[in-house]
Amino acid sequence: ILYNQVQDLKGTIRVYCRVRPFLPGQSCTQTTVDYIGETGSILIVNPFKQGKDVRRSFTFNKVFSTNATQENIYADTQPLIRSILDGYNVCIFAYGQTGSGKTYTMSGPDLTTEDTWGVNYRALRDLFLLSKERLDVIKYDVAVQMIEIYNEQVRDLLVTDGFTRRLDIRNNSQLNGLNVPDASLIPVMCTQDVLDLMRIGHKNRAVGATALNVRSSRSHSILTVHVQGKELVSGSILRGCLHLVDLAGSERVDKSEAVGERLKEAQHINRSLSALGDVISALAQKSPHVPYRNSKLTQLLQDSLGGQAKTLMFVHINPEVNALGETISTLKFAERVA
Ligand code: ADP
Ligand code: MG
Repeated sequence: ILYNQVQDLKGTIRVYCRVRPFLPGQSCTQTTVDYIGETGSILIVNPFKQGKDVRRSFTFNKVFSTNATQENIYADTQPLIRSILDGYNVCIFAYGQTGSGKTYTMSGPDLTTEDTWGVNYRALRDLFLLSKERLDVIKYDVAVQMIEIYNEQVRDLLVTDGFTRRLDIRNNSQLNGLNVPDASLIPVMCTQDVLDLMRIGHKNRAVGATALNVRSSRSHSILTVHVQGKELVSGSILRGCLHLVDLAGSERVDKSEAVGERLKEAQHINRSLSALGDVISALAQKSPHVPYRNSKLTQLLQDSLGGQAKTLMFVHINPEVNALGETISTLKFAERVA
């Protein structure tokens, strides 16, 4: 019935690049971002070197420059929100090195001003708005889960007793898309409900970590929105879900320096980000074999990656010269999945 809008989106995987502005106090006289084209190209240079080998151009669906607003960033996400209500699954990822703006894109700098709300809140606001428009045809129920993957272990972030249990992932069609069945699933009616839950999630994320940003840069956090619609006349049910994923920092850790816990974390992150890259690039190339089983992250998202599902990846760039190496490897990752 409502399956039309989803055709509007060409391709099932879209890659967007966002360049973070220089922060107050950072010198912006030297940058690696030389040029951003209208048609999704970005030219990276090493301002301290001459010659051709220090210039590289990359092309994506879009490249957002430093003055893009949160609203600009969100604009292309809106049609995907409609498709969730039509019964499709959608994944939205934020990729990039620590400090490049992933959390800013997904959540925003703070929750008090709507102007700076990130993709998460805007998506949920629209989900509620759009579902109300259909009120006399379909009744929708919306519920959210929030989990973290840290060192290949899945944890519930919505527990209220402060004790985040380890959870299993199941891929069982009987579960109606609930593939972490033991994680708290909380019904939500409005954006305020979601804001309240995200505060709990944020607090739980910090448990056991010396500093929140340390932990959050080394784990993937996943907000999953489950939508179930019941057609009033026929009684038939449709289900869609939206995964909003703030990935662990993609920076490579120097093996000679990292030891113990730090090295273990780094290896888990490297492995799961490359597993994600392998899955998305296999899908982009329409490969018959898609290696979902290689990480918890790709296992968890299996039925929302590929098939009819839509994927949107925001890759983030830090424009500083000392980030050049990470910038290039981030853009190479993005180029591989585009
Ligand atoms: P990450 O989650 O990738 O580690 P953050 O989102 O925490 O990075 O961003 C790092 C810092 O840069 C934060 O202080 C954040 O507020 C700021 N920042 C990131 N992106 C932007 C942006 N587009 N505009 C203004 N400030 C930004
Ligand atoms: Mg972050």
